[in-house]
Amino acid sequence: MTRLERLSRLHFLCVVSEVQADPCTPQRAARGVRADRVAQAYRAERAGAAHREACGVCGQSARAQTGLCPACQDSWDREVAAQRAYWGAA
Ligand SMILES: [Zn+2]
Repeated sequence: MTRLERLSRLHFLCVVSEVQADPCTPQRAARGVRADRVAQAYRAERAGAAHREACGVCGQSARAQTGLCPACQDSWDREVAAQRAYWGAA
C-alpha cells in the first residue's frame, strides 16, 4: 500500500468513526478534527509537498516504511481493529 493509499483509507476510517459518534459531542468534534488533519495530509501528499521523513498526520518524525510516527501508527492500528469489530469482519 502506498502512503497516499494509506492516507486515503485512514481518512475514510476517520470519517466513518466521526459519523458514528453522537452529534454535538466533544468526541464527535475531536474525530472531526482528526478527519480534517488526515485530509490535509492526504492533499499535501498528493501535491508532493509532504516530507517523507515526517508523519503524514502530525508531522513528527516518522518511519519511512509507514509514513506515520509510532503514535499515529498505533492510532491507525486501533482504528482498523475498532472498525473490524464494528462491521463484524473477520
Ligand atoms: Zn504522527
